[in-house]
Amino acid sequence: MNNEAEKILADKNIKPTAMRILVLKELLLQSDAVSLYDLEQKFDKVERTTLFRTLNTFVENSLIHKIDDGTGAVKYALCEKDCTCELKDLHLHFLCTKCGRTFCLKDIPIPSFQLPDNFVFETANFVIKGVCPHCHK
Ligand SMILES: [Zn+2]
Ligand SMILES: [Zn+2]
Ligand SMILES: [Zn+2]
Repeated sequence: MNNEAEKILADKNIKPTAMRILVLKELLLQSDAVSLYDLEQKFDKVERTTLFRTLNTFVENSLIHKIDDGTGAVKYALCEKDCTCELKDLHLHFLCTKCGRTFCLKDIPIPSFQLPDNFVFETANFVIKGVCPHCHK
């Protein structure tokens, strides 16, 4: 598993430090997006600032992407292998109103659109709210 994490980091041109491998391994175990707070709970002795810096490095290198699901806490999820986090790579996200988990709907790209003149695109958050399969029983 260490090797897998190291390879993923190398693929994204990120230097594989012990800390980065540790954080990536944790992210690989997640099935939904995690907040900085969620991650902090998983490590005993890791400073929040260190964790935050590590996540930022991952974001800058398109290893993970940030999701603003409207809950106030930014969440993070792993990107696809060839993701460059451009408009073409963006997908829908799903926020479960029962359990509060946020999922990547990687197979559903955000709808294409044409902005009116003089509006410059920066980023988009497409968040669907509803009940996830775990809670819908
Ligand atoms: Zn991405
Ligand atoms: Zn749920
Ligand atoms: Zn996502």
